[in-house]
Amino acid sequence: MVAQSPVADLVQEEEFPGPKVSTPEEVLRYSIDTGGGIYHAIGSAAMGPNDDDVVDSRLRVRGVSGLRVIDASVFRQQPSGNTAAPTMALAWRAADLIEQGE
Ligand SMILES: Cc1cc2nc3c(=O)[nH]c(=O)nc-3n(C[C@H](O)[C@H](O)[C@H](O)COP(=O)(O)OP(=O)(O)OC[C@H]3O[C@@H](n4cnc5c(N)ncnc54)[C@H](O)[C@@H]3O)c2cc1C
Repeated sequence: MVAQSPVADLVQEEEFPGPKVSTPEEVLRYSIDTGGGIYHAIGSAAMGPNDDDVVDSRLRVRGVSGLRVIDASVFRQQPSGNTAAPTMALAWRAADLIEQGE
């Protein structure tokens, strides 16, 4: 997009990833080589409907009674924005579930 006029007329030089990275394969390779988690890790105890998903839709750990996971680790996918607000929303939802006693 930035390489197209009229924006391109304002660009002197592309610093990164640089003009040599343009095909989808090159972009993927660049992302793998240089990308980082930027401190928003999620998903290590992902919620889901299957027997091998760590928690169910009510945040209960499968195979362990009386235990829930209530943090960003239950997210299945990275939110497209920051993670703190979804984590707080999750906590509010979890409080309701616990209050309901299920
Ligand atoms: C540098 C940085 C900047 C960030 N900036 C933003 C931002 O600007 N906006 C945003 O939305 N998100 C931001 N995040 C992400 C956000 O902070 C996290 O996604 C969110 O805090 C995750 O919440 P959590 O409850 O899953 O984990 P955490 O907040 O990490 O909470 C885990 C808690 O468990 C405790 N704990 C760990 N092990 C044990 C144990 N064995 N026994 C008892 N307690 C234990 C820890 O002490 C901690 O209090 C940032 C994260 C970092 C690191």
